[in-house]
Amino acid sequence: MEITQLLYLQDMAILDCSACILDVLQGEPCVVILDRTVFYPQGGGQPSDKGIIRSPHASFEVQKVVVENGIALHYGIFTQGVFSQQEVVDMQVSPAIRNLHNKNHSAGHLIDYALLSLGYSLISGKGYHFPQGPYVQYQGTLEQNEREALLPRLEDTVNVIASRSLPISVSLQENDPERRIMTVQGYAPILCGGTHVINTQDIGHITIRKIKNEKGYLRVSYSVP
Ligand SMILES: [Zn+2]
Repeated sequence: MEITQLLYLQDMAILDCSACILDVLQGEPCVVILDRTVFYPQGGGQPSDKGIIRSPHASFEVQKVVVENGIALHYGIFTQGVFSQQEVVDMQVSPAIRNLHNKNHSAGHLIDYALLSLGYSLISGKGYHFPQGPYVQYQGTLEQNEREALLPRLEDTVNVIASRSLPISVSLQENDPERRIMTVQGYAPILCGGTHVINTQDIGHITIRKIKNEKGYLRVSYSVP
């Protein structure tokens, strides 16, 4: 089977498109495979999108999307009918859920930049950009008094950066389209395959909830509105 064309890689703003059904695997949940998709598949610390795939006769609620061997598997349930092979359908990502994921993911990167501007050159560990308790981690730890002093300064600094209304853009690498460059204007481009707000002011107020040491890492927990 040909690999699924992932439209979010080129354009994070597309939330709907038409596509062709390549396969439907019945089960609980069912799996729908198409030639292309606007759904973001879970990965890079970001949860997958949710949404709807529809044809004139059937409706499928997408609960989770993962990519395996280049094929996007749309897990979910049919709320009406069932798709047939080669049928052309319309898909729509839930804008509210995508927007929340965008804000969470972009805020994580801005925390990197805020720490750097406060004089902390930390090596990033994993980021967890799920709506339930998002955090970013860095190698190393800090003493409790320094963590306590840092928290309000970090919250101030990250919100000053966000309020500058910096555009966020993505571009694909010609020689390796799987790896995508993300740039927040004024900051060094980084490799990032996730989805983002198109402007930092769209995040709203970023709250730094907690800074703690966790198994040799500094974990910064945060939240967005
Ligand atoms: Zn990222």
